[in-house]
Amino acid sequence: MFIEMNLIILGPPGAGKGTQATFIATEFNIPHISTGDMLREAIKKGTNLGQKAKEVMDAGNLVSDDLIIELVKERISESDCSQGFLFDGFPRTIPQAEALEKNNIQIDGVIELKVPDDEILKRMSGRRIHLNSGRTYHVDFNPPLIEGLDDETGEELIIRKDDEPETVKDRLKVYWKQTQPLIEYYLGNKENSNLDYFSVEGTLSVEEIKNNIKEFLSK
Ligand code: AMP
Repeated sequence: MFIEMNLIILGPPGAGKGTQATFIATEFNIPHISTGDMLREAIKKGTNLGQKAKEVMDAGNLVSDDLIIELVKERISESDCSQGFLFDGFPRTIPQAEALEKNNIQIDGVIELKVPDDEILKRMSGRRIHLNSGRTYHVDFNPPLIEGLDDETGEELIIRKDDEPETVKDRLKVYWKQTQPLIEYYLGNKENSNLDYFSVEGTLSVEEIKNNIKEFLSK
């Protein structure tokens, strides 16, 4: 299937945005733009941006709007984005959303994943990653074949610094203060534009969420 839409997937850290965004991108042939992945890539490569972002990310804070807006503008000017794209982890602040409007980048649909804070804490404290590939696991929900080791390489899994419990609490605070207001922002926009807004319980199973999103996007 193919859709020509500019989409946003919105929700707290650990809500499952990445999983669902990967599904949507494959199912609907649309580029998945994750600012978090782009920043981690920049850190790995040791670019200027990576150096500026690392400390801020490790502390669970947000990278400055200016840096992120430039990064996103550059990315969506690439040819694969001309028929639509899916933002994951962006916008994360009202000024980032306003920057889209100022640059005449229209948003056609917003998908919100709703998950309560205590569930987020439970989920994120169990998250493990394989640093080189970015493969993610969860000690309860998606365990590796052998505890603590990557399925494909057998290398050790780590806890991302920003998934440590204290950092997760800080990230949730940041989410409520800076990102959650975007829900009102886009619900308000819905009233006076063609934007479609879809809210789904992020506590449903991954398959149920996928089906709900698919139904919404296939309308
Ligand atoms: P994520 O993988 O989306 O959870 O992002 C990881 C970290 O990257 C966040 O905690 C922020 O520090 C940073 N980051 C990602 N996207 C943005 C954004 N749109 N604005 C500011 N910081 C961001």
